[in-house]
Amino acid sequence: MIRVAVDFQTIRYRVTMKKHNTQCKYHADHTANMQIARRGHAREFIDLHTHTTASDGSFPAGKLVREAAVKGLSAIAITDHDSVAGVEEGIEEGKNHCIEVVPGIEMTARYNSEMHLLGLYIDHSNNQLTNYLQKLSVLRMRLLVKAFSLLSSRGISITPAEVMVTQSTLSLSSLADHLLIKGLVTTRMDIDAIYGHVWEEWQNNLLTPLECIAFIHESNGFAFLAHPKRLDNDDAQILKTIKLLREYGMDGIECIHAEHTPADRKKYMCWAKQLGLLCTGGSDFHGAKKSGLEIGTGYGDLEVPYSFLESIKDKQLKE
Ligand SMILES: [Zn+2]
Repeated sequence: MIRVAVDFQTIRYRVTMKKHNTQCKYHADHTANMQIARRGHAREFIDLHTHTTASDGSFPAGKLVREAAVKGLSAIAITDHDSVAGVEEGIEEGKNHCIEVVPGIEMTARYNSEMHLLGLYIDHSNNQLTNYLQKLSVLRMRLLVKAFSLLSSRGISITPAEVMVTQSTLSLSSLADHLLIKGLVTTRMDIDAIYGHVWEEWQNNLLTPLECIAFIHESNGFAFLAHPKRLDNDDAQILKTIKLLREYGMDGIECIHAEHTPADRKKYMCWAKQLGLLCTGGSDFHGAKKSGLEIGTGYGDLEVPYSFLESIKDKQLKE
């Protein structure tokens, strides 16, 4: 496995952050705002799971970073679904707002139903990664055309623009959500009957969890299982999967997530410690698409400590 040993730019950024905070134009202009934000949610907190318009979020990367600054966060990771298109803009905007922006991704893996793997500190310009993402994007468009045509042949005539109005993104799953929201079909089974085989073709073209982890590592990143709770209702099964992913080289798990209860968070952190895995955490912010879910604070009780990021950086230093 090849990795860049140290992200010097990020480490320098952290070391000089105190000094930078006093010089930062944003801080000078928005001192009052920041003080309010700090009172509510101290600046040592971070959010390592966010989405932009590059996938299914409603905020462009720049706006997302500004929102994180207003909330007083010290770092965020941009982790779009199978896309790194928002990372560069986020990093640039982060420089204006004293926010450390971690280049990331949330890869969809082929696994029973669906598994998401987060990559943090990836080299988002890695050729192998960008080629795969480009291939996936072309496939997505081809399959969407197929799905729209099958819907039309069943008398359901909708346009991509209509889906964008309710979903702000275009994918097979957002198309399914649109059909259900608009009452154009009654159940998921109706959707399966119309374009289930198209969905299967999408699934079959995804990388396996092992391949996703390898891709993240080859892009110099760290691989984490996203929201483990969504994998199964049975804790024993989730733990078994985590152990298998660890054998594949996975670096850690997303212990803190907006959908995890305080007991879940404690349990996953305990498992991570027992298995020698790193912890990550985030809100899974999607902007206006997930109502009531805010960056940094999730549904109100989310607190992801900066120490999570420090542990990841420590591992970077050791490799
Ligand atoms: Zn996500």
